[in-house]
Amino acid sequence: MPQPPRARRRRATKENPRDTAALVGRVERASVSGIRPEIADRARRMLIAWLRHAASVGMPFSQVVRRLASGEAATQIAQIDLEDQAARLEGIACGAGCAFCCILNGADGGTILEHEAQRMHAALLPFAGSPDGRAAHPDACAALDPETMRCRVYEDRPMICRSYHSTSAEACMKNADGIPAAGTGVLGAQPLHLTLQALVRDALTGIARSHTYSLVQVGRGTSDGLSEGPVLDAARHPPRALRDELKRLAGR
Ligand code: SF4
Ligand code: SF4
Repeated sequence: MPQPPRARRRRATKENPRDTAALVGRVERASVSGIRPEIADRARRMLIAWLRHAASVGMPFSQVVRRLASGEAATQIAQIDLEDQAARLEGIACGAGCAFCCILNGADGGTILEHEAQRMHAALLPFAGSPDGRAAHPDACAALDPETMRCRVYEDRPMICRSYHSTSAEACMKNADGIPAAGTGVLGAQPLHLTLQALVRDALTGIARSHTYSLVQVGRGTSDGLSEGPVLDAARHPPRALRDELKRLAGR
C-alpha cells in the first residue's frame, strides 16, 4: 500500500546521513551521468578523501554540508589539479591585458558554483556603477575593466576562468568573433570541478541543495549594483544545466 507523502518524507529524513562517515557512503553510491567514467571515478575518490580528511580534523557535519553544497569543497579539490596542470603547460599565449576570452558566448557565459558566485559578487560590487566590460564589447564579462582590459576580480575569478588557456591569442580573437579556432579551452580541472559538484548534489539529496549559476548574469547583476540575493536568484541555473554542461564538456 503506497505511503502518504508525509510518511515518505519522515522516512527520508530518518535515512539521511547525520555524520560525515555516513555521507561517504552516499558519495560511494552517487551517480553522475554524461561524463567519462574515469573522470567520475577519480572525482569520487578525491571527494571521499576530502570527506575523510574533514572527519579527521573534526569539522562539524553542518560545516561539511555547507562547504559541499556551496561548491567550496569541489573548488578546493579541483584547484590542486589545476595547479598541477598549469605547471606542465608549454607555449601558452596568455598575459595580462589579453582578454578575448572575457568576451563571453551567449547569455549564460559559463557555469559557476555558488561560493564562486558569492565571491565574485563581493569582489565586484565595489565597482558597481562604473563603466564595466560592456563598455569595451557588448558581450564582455562585466568584471572586465574596459580601460585596462584586466579582470577586476582576478583573485576571486571562478574555476572556468582560472582553467581557460590558449596557445594563440589570434585563435581567441577568432572565437570571440564567433569563428571556431583550435588551441583554446579549459583544462581538465573544470570538468573535474563540475563532476565533483554533480556527485555532491546527488550525495546531498534530501540534506541540502546545490545550485550552479551563470557567469554572465552574476557579473552583470553585480555591476548594476544589485545585492547578493537578487543577483543569485536571477543567475541561478535550472537543475539540468549542470548535467548539460558536463555532457558538452565530455563531447569536446
Ligand atoms: S585565453 Fe586567449 S584571450 Fe585569454 S589571456 Fe589567454 S591568449 Fe589571451
Ligand atoms: S571573471 Fe574575470 S577572468 Fe573571468 S570572464 Fe570575467 S573578467 Fe574575464
